[in-house]
Amino acid sequence: MDESKVLGIFKESDALLEGHFKLTSGKHSDIYYEKFMILKRPRLCEKVCAALAQRFEKDKVELVVGPTTGGVIIAYEVARYLGVDAIYAEPAEGGKGRVFKRGFHIDEGTRVLIVDDVLTTGTSIVEVIELVKSYKANIVGIGLFLDRSGGKIKFDYPLQPLATVTANAWEPDACPLCKKGIPISQRGSRKFQKA
Ligand SMILES: [Zn+2]
Repeated sequence: MDESKVLGIFKESDALLEGHFKLTSGKHSDIYYEKFMILKRPRLCEKVCAALAQRFEKDKVELVVGPTTGGVIIAYEVARYLGVDAIYAEPAEGGKGRVFKRGFHIDEGTRVLIVDDVLTTGTSIVEVIELVKSYKANIVGIGLFLDRSGGKIKFDYPLQPLATVTANAWEPDACPLCKKGIPISQRGSRKFQKA
């Protein structure tokens, strides 16, 4: 499944929208990505996760790790495709970093694939990397549904986003869309700017 096919699925399912949106950070953006428009559709989610798993088929993945919340579904489905287990990284008490709960553990040297839905600032992926490294595991790659940083964020491991877009984000008082008087959260056109 190539990038244009993936972007087509994201757009048709209203996961990827263009307009004028307020992000959880408080910033305004011209692109909105709602991963749960994919994750709520099991048959579609299965296809997208299979495409992601195929990118790592030759990497002898032994375990898939994903962060809560959306990453749980993706890790499960990718692991199912690859025929291995999945475990889930949860926020640590106090909100700093990630931990494994529920008796989850990684044996030293295990070949781990990290997956997540969307890359925006990279914070949650960095937290998962730190957690997996603390078990002396062998991280073989990072798989994502969408990189919305336009490819700007890099890691020390092979990164495979199914699709990449460049989303602009502005402080509200610097937002050109506000200046143009475009109402916020408008979900009009489904066009998007490709990286
Ligand atoms: Zn705005």
